[in-house]
Parts: sequence; C-alpha cells; structure tokens
Amino acid sequence: VYLAVLFGIDIGGTNTKVGLVDQTGILALASIPTLVPQGPEKWLGRLGACVDQLVAGAGLSRGEIKGAGLDCPGSQDLKAGKVIFAANLPTFNGYALRDSVSKMLGVPTVMDNDANTYAYGEYFFGVGKARHDLVCITLGTGVGGGIVLNGQVLSGPLGVGGELGHIVIEPHGRKCTCGSIGCVECYASATGFRGMLAEALDEGRETRLIRGDDVKEMAEAAENGDPLALEMFGKAGVALARGVTNIVVTTGIGLIVIGAGISRSFESLMRGSFDKELAIRLHMADPASLNVVTSTLGNQAAVMGAAAWAARCLDLNWRLAIAK
Ligand SMILES: [Zn+2]
Repeated sequence: VYLAVLFGIDIGGTNTKVGLVDQTGILALASIPTLVPQGPEKWLGRLGACVDQLVAGAGLSRGEIKGAGLDCPGSQDLKAGKVIFAANLPTFNGYALRDSVSKMLGVPTVMDNDANTYAYGEYFFGVGKARHDLVCITLGTGVGGGIVLNGQVLSGPLGVGGELGHIVIEPHGRKCTCGSIGCVECYASATGFRGMLAEALDEGRETRLIRGDDVKEMAEAAENGDPLALEMFGKAGVALARGVTNIVVTTGIGLIVIGAGISRSFESLMRGSFDKELAIRLHMADPASLNVVTSTLGNQAAVMGAAAWAARCLDLNWRLAIAK
C-alpha cells in the first residue's frame, strides 16, 4: 500500500518546525528560525532550503511529496489562506501565507490555526488514535483550543470555532488580550501568569518570585511551596475546569487533552484545584465519564497534525490505507 508523504509546517514566533509525515508518523524533522523581523519572504527562502535538505536526507524526491499542512498562531482567514492577526508574527499579518508556501513547494497546501492542528495531531496520532473525538486546550503564551468532532476540525462558518482560550469564566475578572474580560487565557497562559504576578507584586504580596519571572520560575517556586505561586497555579486549574465545563456541555465530548508548555505542570500543580472546581461545576455529565489527560505528542503534535489534517482535506485517505 502506498502511503502518501506530506510536509507538516508549524510556524512559531521563534522557530518553524518542518516535518515529513506519513500516516505512521514523522519520517524526518527539522527546524529553522522564524526570524520574524526579516519578514515572510526571507522566511520562505529558508524554508525552501530546509525542505530540500529534509527530502534529500530522507532519500525521497520533491515529486514524491503530495501535499503540505501549514499552521501558525493567531486569527486567520482560512478561505484566503492569510494571517489576519498574530501577535507573535507581526510581519506575517496580511501576508498570503498559504498560497506562497504552496507555490514554493509545488504542492497543494492546507492552512489552519496551530491549536487546531495540535488537536488534530492528538486526534490522529496521539490520545485519540484516529478513533475518538476530542477537545484540545493548549497552554502556551496564550490559551489555544481545537475541537475534533466526527474526525473533522471544527472551525465553523466564522472560522473561530475552538477558540477555547476566550471562553469567559470571570465576567468581572482580568482584562484579556482579545479585548474581553475574564477569559480562560487571563489565568491559564504564560501571559496570564505574568500579569497575575505583576498585580500580586503591586499589592505587596509575599513571594520569592520577582518581576519578570516566567512560568518556569513560577512552577519551580510552586514546587517549593511558595504560596503565591501555588495560588496562581490553583487559579489556572479553576479557570481550566470552568472552561472545560462549558466545552463539555457545548460539544458533549468527554476526551480533553491539555497540551503545550504549561501542561507540564497540569498534573502536579493544577489537577487538585481543577478536579475540585469540576466537581462543583459539572453536573450534566458524569465526571467519571470525563477523561482529562495531558498531551502525548508534546511539541510535535502540531507538525504531525498539520500534515494529517492536510491529508484529510486533500482526500489522500491515510486511514483507508491503514484499513487495507
Ligand atoms: Zn480573551
């Protein structure tokens, strides 16, 4: 059985991951610096050189690659294949990203939000194993989300489906980067943690943390019993539980995957407050029927998911090939 190979391209504010992926997983993986200030055209040149090396290194030719899946953070016009606004990729805003990449690679290219491809990666290769619908919540600079329902990424007619970081859980809470107030992202993202720390320091709260500390330092402080750090992770757990409650009663999906950087602290620092709050909030479904787990693919989920989602959109039938 011939297994189509696709490119998976995951653009981040610092690095761009590039993978050769087939339905068994990653065949080869490389990374290039995104170098945002240089702009997308220079980035495209570096991507081309990287792709040539990757393909040659895998003993393949460019003609053997059948498509590409592409993702980046921020809001996107999926029909036009353009970034509308990505805070970490300001020079890419408005750029015809999908068509430029497609032209350079010479293959049809599918573009989506990086939390959606992360979710699809976990659906196809990870926790979902291409059988179970799931919801993925990524805890990074912001809080991203992706919903895979009936094997499809749910973006909806407005293209914002699955933006779970902007579910409001504290109507009179902290101000969000999106313009709203009290979104999950205000409490469970790196941006939220930094903001909560600054506010606590302004109030003169006692802590070993100092201004400018990042989530890594906050997690270490919490592990060592720092009361403020513990309180912040506790709040993040509560915010997540409220968000998950809203997601469960909206989608009816019981498999929830917590992914990206801060998810490393989910079991150790957030699980307690999460479970407690969930018991208070969620009564429409049996909490025991809910499966909340951390990502198994980690930082490769998006690159794998980008390729897998493209294979699905381009009708390359990865799963039919498995069935044969
Ligand atoms: Zn928001």
